[in-house]
Amino acid sequence: MRIVLLGAPGSGKGTQAALLMEKLELPHISTGDLLRTAVKNATPLGIKAKEAMDLGNLVSDDLMLGLIEERLGQDDAARGFLLDGYPRNVSQANSLDELLERIGQPVDEAIQIDVDSELIVERIAKRAAEEGRSDDTEEVVRNRLNVYEEQTAPVVSYYAEKGVLSRVLGVGSVEEVLQRILGVLAQRDTA
Ligand code: AMP
Repeated sequence: MRIVLLGAPGSGKGTQAALLMEKLELPHISTGDLLRTAVKNATPLGIKAKEAMDLGNLVSDDLMLGLIEERLGQDDAARGFLLDGYPRNVSQANSLDELLERIGQPVDEAIQIDVDSELIVERIAKRAAEEGRSDDTEEVVRNRLNVYEEQTAPVVSYYAEKGVLSRVLGVGSVEEVLQRILGVLAQRDTA
């Protein structure tokens, strides 16, 4: 099954993706994690991506397409995957569709995790204290939320129009949210 997880920064999609990976035995592909590793290892991609990431802006679509093409081409992604952090704008959503259509494996399900903005800010502040991510400072967080509203939120409508979108409420315990997502996937399976 090919699943795209959508949600604002701090919506819990990374946490949910890690749990879903175990339950569904699918690789969790987080573009944010791939980029952070590239930055840490100072690869050519990491060097090019760092400035945009530090500012909370999006890394260029070209770089991202190269990254995602390479990752989805790896053996473990052949049976399906959980995408976390990609696509981040409508142009990336189109590129992903083209890529997957070429191999006859379209997105089966896009899941939007809904959390209201006050809770998001609270969660990100907590993560900043716990993980010390360099893009979790207040100013950068504000920019990341703006980028999300302007560029990423339209991706939700994109998948709704394709008829593959489900929305789940992202509040409550981690386990409660997980069960909601699994419920949605079970329904899709029997549809
Ligand atoms: P994340 O961990 O998903 O919040 O990603 C951290 C940062 O990596 C983002 O703020 C962007 O700068 C960059 N990034 C991750 N995924 C993408 C993407 N699909 N397109 C562009 N930039 C991305």
